Amino acid sequence: MTELVSTNPATDEVVAVLPVHTDEQVRAIVAQAREAAVWWRAQGYDGRRTALLAWKRHIVRHRGELVELMHRENGKPRIDATLELMLAIEHIDWNAKKAGKVLAPEKRKPGFLLANFSARVEHVPFGVVGVIGPWNYPIFTPNGSIATALAAGNTVVFKPSEHTPAIGRWYVEAFAAANPEAPVGVLSLITGYGETGAALCRAGVDKLAFTGSAATGSKVMAACAETLVPVVMELGGKDAAIVAADADIKAAADAIAFGAMANSGQTCVGIERVYVEAGVRDEFLAELTTAVSGIAPGSGPKASYGPMTMPSQIGIVRRHVEDAIASGGTAVVGGPESIGERYIAPVVILDPAHSSSAIQEETFGPTLTVTTVDSLDEAVKLANDVPFGLAGAVFSRGHAAEIVEQLDTSQISVNSVLGFAGMAALPLGGRGQSGFGRIHGPEGLREFTRTRAVATQKYPIPGVRLLSFGRAGWLNRFLPRLLGWLHGR
Ligand code: NDP
Repeated sequence: MTELVSTNPATDEVVAVLPVHTDEQVRAIVAQAREAAVWWRAQGYDGRRTALLAWKRHIVRHRGELVELMHRENGKPRIDATLELMLAIEHIDWNAKKAGKVLAPEKRKPGFLLANFSARVEHVPFGVVGVIGPWNYPIFTPNGSIATALAAGNTVVFKPSEHTPAIGRWYVEAFAAANPEAPVGVLSLITGYGETGAALCRAGVDKLAFTGSAATGSKVMAACAETLVPVVMELGGKDAAIVAADADIKAAADAIAFGAMANSGQTCVGIERVYVEAGVRDEFLAELTTAVSGIAPGSGPKASYGPMTMPSQIGIVRRHVEDAIASGGTAVVGGPESIGERYIAPVVILDPAHSSSAIQEETFGPTLTVTTVDSLDEAVKLANDVPFGLAGAVFSRGHAAEIVEQLDTSQISVNSVLGFAGMAALPLGGRGQSGFGRIHGPEGLREFTRTRAVATQKYPIPGVRLLSFGRAGWLNRFLPRLLGWLHGR
């Protein structure tokens, strides 16, 4: 196939036709990005800040166009597209303004032996960063890597998902429109299917940032391993919310309903499991049922969320729901009948087996399991007992800190859901099947640089030529004693 046709998941109407870039074309685009990297790096933090803020303003001024495109190509309601965009814009702004400070050279102590030296660490951009992104948050998610990598001084070649390539093209073209003086290649687009992503791994990039499923992530790592290209992996999740008996139950149910169902549940840090203490289980279920009953998918202005963006995901959601019920779970909201050809209405299943796929695998749909537990220790144990470790939520008035301490995830919201994703200063990443490396915040900026240690001799010490074959005999006799004196006592 030489063309990529993207369609509206609500209507199948064609949204855009884009090229499928060949391996050769991908290499050429990466080579162009390498040339542009010289110019981009020479802009320094101030120049890059100006360019990134101009890009930000351009996106915001033309947001109507972008939001409409996000609604058509991804299917999400316009207000959800606007919210996604707001979060992404926060990240561009933060990175543009903070990169210079976060990545400033750091002085280090040279130590006793080399006291006549000065020492510093510099944070140097890699050069060209390849970014492969998913479709669920087609701006926010890739932007987490792209804005960070650009602010750190890299140029970027971006491959959006085959389901949202026109959104990716709009975002990349906005950079050029806002920065007409920039050479081609500071931020470039390649489009196509999985093979185009694989080609990017092999096209000479200096680092690869991947966001997507664990299965594809391991393929990307294997391709990058051929040439030792370092990777950052932002993969899937199976996030749990723990509801303690002392929580504000109504508020917890309201937040969890949003965390689970928003964006049709197609959120890597969405809530897919709840562990609730037995004493408040019935109250929580009643509040959750009320919160969920007002939620309806659709394409119109009143829709709470849109269609499933990727049709093949519907089969996975169906399998998980059926498996949860077959394993002993009870459908308390919806059930297999909630799963349509494009839309899935909310499903809540009580007490499925811990081994069921609805508990152990990423569902990525508007479904939620609720498991009754006898204690918070049991809740933590079950919450941690999955292959993923991305994020989670804790609802408690008095026990939040102790639960946070024990949860084996990298992001946690307390008495809320998803809060960390909206804070540009906080890092985001996973462990286990949720990946490794960090995007967002100072940790994200450092992820897109390598360190360069610089040791400068400020003045020679007469007679003490430690790093020389001309070292004096007395010094050779003194060194063993010095070692014992310094470290042997
Ligand atoms: P996929 O893993 O299916 O695809 C991700 C990207 O990889 C797409 O651009 C895809 O291209 C591309 N790709 C596919 N095959 C290859 C290959 N062999 N080599 C290189 N690239 C390839 O994920 P989805 O798009 O379905 O996204 C959903 C997943 O992303 C979920 O698991 C979700 O949890 C995760 N995610 C994680 C986030 C995080 O920050 N941790 C944030 C958001 C999502 P194409 O689409 O053209 O096939």
